[in-house]
Amino acid sequence: MSEIALHRNAFIKTLRERTLWDLIVIGGGATGLGIALDSASRGYSTLLLEQSDFAKGTSSRSTKLVHGGVRYLAKGDIGLVYSALYERGLLLKNASHVVKRQAFVIPCYTWFSKMKYLAGLKMYDWLSGKFSFGKSRFLNLKEITSQLPSLNTKDLVGGVEYYDGQFDDARLAINLAQTCAEKGGTLLNYFKVAGLLKDNGQVSGVHAIDVESKKEYNLKAKVVINATGVFVDDVLQMDTPGKRPLVRPSQGIHLVVDKSFLKSSSAVMIPETGDGRVLFAVPWHDHVLLGTTDTPLSNHSLEPVALENEIDFILSTVKQYMTEPPEEKDVLSIFAGLRPLAAPNKDTNSTKEISRDHKLIVSDSGLITITGGKWTTYRKMAEETVNKAIEVGKLLFTACKTKNIRIHGCAEPGSKSHLSLYGTDEEKIKELIKQSPSLAKPIAQSMPYTEAEVIWAARHEMARTVEDVLARRLRILFLDAKAAMGAAERVAELMAAELGYDDAWIKAQVEDFTKLARRYLLQPPFKTTEQSIDLADKVTY
Ligand SMILES: Cc1cc2nc3c(=O)[nH]c(=O)nc-3n(C[C@H](O)[C@H](O)[C@H](O)COP(=O)(O)OP(=O)(O)OC[C@H]3O[C@@H](n4cnc5c(N)ncnc54)[C@H](O)[C@@H]3O)c2cc1C
Repeated sequence: MSEIALHRNAFIKTLRERTLWDLIVIGGGATGLGIALDSASRGYSTLLLEQSDFAKGTSSRSTKLVHGGVRYLAKGDIGLVYSALYERGLLLKNASHVVKRQAFVIPCYTWFSKMKYLAGLKMYDWLSGKFSFGKSRFLNLKEITSQLPSLNTKDLVGGVEYYDGQFDDARLAINLAQTCAEKGGTLLNYFKVAGLLKDNGQVSGVHAIDVESKKEYNLKAKVVINATGVFVDDVLQMDTPGKRPLVRPSQGIHLVVDKSFLKSSSAVMIPETGDGRVLFAVPWHDHVLLGTTDTPLSNHSLEPVALENEIDFILSTVKQYMTEPPEEKDVLSIFAGLRPLAAPNKDTNSTKEISRDHKLIVSDSGLITITGGKWTTYRKMAEETVNKAIEVGKLLFTACKTKNIRIHGCAEPGSKSHLSLYGTDEEKIKELIKQSPSLAKPIAQSMPYTEAEVIWAARHEMARTVEDVLARRLRILFLDAKAAMGAAERVAELMAAELGYDDAWIKAQVEDFTKLARRYLLQPPFKTTEQSIDLADKVTY
């Protein structure tokens, strides 16, 4: 496979050279990137436009599970679970550097629940077939307490252990972008679609703005795909003003705490919380993620804010299960994401009842919209969408190839270093350090991330801002917001030297990032109502 770096200027040049694309994809989250990769690998000329950074939206804010969805099994959604388990298996095969097997334990407080969960999880194992991640089994009291020493043992009768996948969502997004570029695709971050072009009522392209240079472009395409997550209705409005909303956002938040609160490499799944949902405590990059919630909102934003009752819900639920539970002061970072759930036909406040499966819609104008689904199923959603695009755009049919495409970096994790997440790029980053040993310096306190990775992100991964590096190329903002603030100035200096920016850029970047990072700190006063979110979070791109 030829390896082509993501390079924004080179992509902009391609933009000027090509007068007609087969496909333009709007949105650079899991869904859009998956579609762009599918399309480019079938040989169609493909352009993806993202208004902010790749995975800036929901796709960097997930629970980091590559899963079939145990709770959908409980609801009897067998087809959905089967398909997601199959995709889970493909992801472990094709992105083995970024996806790993993870043991989960369900603590059980009655014998009946123990039997019930084991029966369900045996079914889960069976549905995964040859892509099984490991066999589910009973844990007796001794086993569960030695595996999870932090668990509250009052009334505990044992547990059930099962296996699912775990990943780094934003890194997989970048790897998808890289793979797409290697297949001939053109991808631009900080490129906002502001309107649709039409010929005789049919969508024939997009009007886009380069957010960095403010230059405007009219870009023509045979098919335009709206893969903008919770923003799909904004693009549908460009097509048909006044159209009824397709999506209803539902917020999920996560709190990140030190790994000492879990004291285990196993994750915990609490299957029935006080409000009938599930809660996870998942080890992630040497920390623990606690989440998530499911709060219906009436508005969307690129930087949603956790509500006080969501924070209380997570901390109070965890308190029931842990001997030394984290308190507000122990929260290192807090992040919120919005599920692009398909809106129901009738008004309801219960997001549990709204389908998690995706919706694929073709408007009268030929605009294709895809929304919903899960990170885990992005490939399947992409396959269906590109098949539809072939039909709509009357493109010459070529079969989908993504089941067998190795995603950029794909390699069995070899070293124990955090750099193993880069897969085949690990050696290249080490080579950078060999050439300039000072780049081995860590950029944030008590974290392994080095200056070399900042250079790598700016040079090869299209990181354009300090936030791109600290939030998504490296996950420091999501792990420890204070540590991220401490690293901002050095990251800005390194990026400025690499990308040719001046001191004013450094100053502005540090200011912008610090302002943003404060929102990832758990510090009162919290936003308590959705009203305050709407006012604070206007999308300014
Ligand atoms: C709390 C939470 C936890 C989750 N956990 C998991 C999990 O553990 N496992 C799992 O499989 N799934 C999980 N999911 C689901 C998964 O994260 C989403 O299904 C997936 O990320 C959606 O990706 P997307 O590309 O559709 O949307 P997004 O990631 O939101 O991408 C849409 C993109 O479109 C861009 N955009 C919008 N308008 C424009 C425009 N006009 N021009 C250009 N670009 C535009 C946005 O900037 C954005 O980057 C979770 C979801 C949430 C909310």
